[in-house]
Amino acid sequence: MPRKAARKGLLIQYEYCTGCHTCEVACKQEHNYPVGIGGIKLNEIITEKPDRIRIDYVPFLTEFCDLCAARTRRGEKPSCVKHCQAAIMWYGTVDELAKQMADKPRSVIQSPY
Ligand code: SF4
Ligand code: SF4
Repeated sequence: MPRKAARKGLLIQYEYCTGCHTCEVACKQEHNYPVGIGGIKLNEIITEKPDRIRIDYVPFLTEFCDLCAARTRRGEKPSCVKHCQAAIMWYGTVDELAKQMADKPRSVIQSPY
């Protein structure tokens, strides 16, 4: 029986995400997506406290993310990972990313398929 390929995904340490939207632009340019379509979407989460407001930026993969299959086949990083301005995105197998995640408290692993 053929061995199933390890599931791949992205680790995003959103603790340091600045909300710059560069990952969205990099994805659109790589895939030439039309307006309104993209493989990643930045979410803004606002938490109101009595003395302050906290804003977290958390990018999420959409159904249009193919994990940059053409690029990764050539041994290149996904476009969003390469261009992330805060260098807080990593591509790999979900198992590898889970190990990396251990010392990154505010982070998420996402795998679109
Ligand atoms: S991995 Fe590629 S397809 Fe997926 S969001 Fe990043 S740039 Fe877009
Ligand atoms: S490029 Fe990096 S820092 Fe900028 S919004 Fe995307 S994940 Fe956040």
